[in-house]
Amino acid sequence: MSATPLTDFSRLCVHTITTKPWSIEEATEKYAEAGVAGMTVWRQWLDGRDIAATGERIRAAGIDVVSLCRGGFFPATDPIDRATAIDDNLLAIDEAEALGAPLIVLVCGADPGQPLEASRDQILRGIEAVLPRCEETNIKLAIEPLHPMYADTRSAVNTLRTANDMCDKINHPLLGVTIDVYHLWWDPELKEQIERCGQAGRIFSYHVCDWRSPTEDMLNDRGLMGEGCIDNRLIRGWVEEQGFTGPIEVEIFSNRYWESDQNEFLEKIKQAYLDCT
Ligand code: ZN
Repeated sequence: MSATPLTDFSRLCVHTITTKPWSIEEATEKYAEAGVAGMTVWRQWLDGRDIAATGERIRAAGIDVVSLCRGGFFPATDPIDRATAIDDNLLAIDEAEALGAPLIVLVCGADPGQPLEASRDQILRGIEAVLPRCEETNIKLAIEPLHPMYADTRSAVNTLRTANDMCDKINHPLLGVTIDVYHLWWDPELKEQIERCGQAGRIFSYHVCDWRSPTEDMLNDRGLMGEGCIDNRLIRGWVEEQGFTGPIEVEIFSNRYWESDQNEFLEKIKQAYLDCT
């Protein structure tokens, strides 16, 4: 069943990459002015910053730090590269702790030089290697399945079923999933796999945007909700039927919007959130 329309911005979260031209300081100020309730911080926005102070600044502006994007990229044919990836994920956990982010979203990775099954196995090993640090810091990890068009280099996890299977294998309370409509809208199993997530208590976060048709760029042509063919309200209904009441995170990579006035873009996001999410 479709969700009922959203009537306020208490669940609106925006990813820093959505308003890419803004620094984290600008984004904090602008989101606060706009009444945005949450922020998901991409790691590169923390470059050169005092991370703890940045987290304080965001919260002082009245904005929740929802998650840190992104960890993952575990697979590699070279074992040295796999060890480097694990180190980088441990660093991401430290960054999340300093920032005050309760969750790290994992773009799990893939290496085109090996079978997807080998990459999936390395993803499992990588997650297992960093979970002890998650236990020490109480930081959660969310596997975000990516659309299969990214299976070559970005993620060998391409369906919610695969993410669920991995979570079942590892079976750890700090490991769950991120459901991103852009990556999963096409999947005929989506509703039943969302139910499976709900039963396991592992819907850790929820990302929205739209799929433009035609899509002109595989990475940077995502649409505002309502601009494409994703039934955002239907999918939100499925997620909420499973008890999810958390932030609705607007994550839009778009050359078109990044070239536009970001203040106007943020207003469009708010309108699309009310009208089409
Ligand atoms: Zn996402």
